[in-house]
Parts: sequence; structure tokens; C-alpha cells
Amino acid sequence: VTGEIVSCPHCRTQLEVAGRLRGALLNCTKCGRVVEVPGLRDPLWLLLRLAALALGLSLVWLLEPHWGPWGAAAAGAGTVALLWLLSRAL
Ligand SMILES: [Zn+2]
Repeated sequence: VTGEIVSCPHCRTQLEVAGRLRGALLNCTKCGRVVEVPGLRDPLWLLLRLAALALGLSLVWLLEPHWGPWGAAAAGAGTVALLWLLSRAL
């Protein structure tokens, strides 16, 4: 399980949290105050990523006749990567 580092907004302590805790609330190990883990809650986050993947694949399928297989694949991969990064930033 890949953890994420979240810094406590109250005392700046770096807290390592499991990736699946995105969007959850937890207590800081140092000051005990509530820290919100940035990110969407798990099912929605997963759905967004699946949607990004579907959008990328449909883009490849749509653009393939015009752009050729490699151009369309690159456009699709770019879209997936962009939406992936966007979903991480949320
Ligand atoms: Zn703290």
C-alpha cells in the first residue's frame, strides 16, 4: 500500500496515511487535532479514474481514422494522464 504524506495544518507534522484514506478525517499523531486528508472519497475517486480511462479509450477509437493509430493512442494516453493528474490534485 502506497502511503501519502499529509502535513498537519495545526502543527505542521508530516503524517503518513494510506492512499485509501483520501478524503477522510484523522487525528494528528502529535497534536491530536483533526486533519483532513485531501482528495475525494475512495469510490468516487476510483470512478473518476475509470471514467478517465474510458474517455481516453473512446478518444483513441474516435480519432484513429483521422490521426492514425499512434497519433490517436498518444492523444488518448494524454487525456488519461491529464485526468489522472487532475483526480490526484482534487
Ligand atoms: Zn498536528
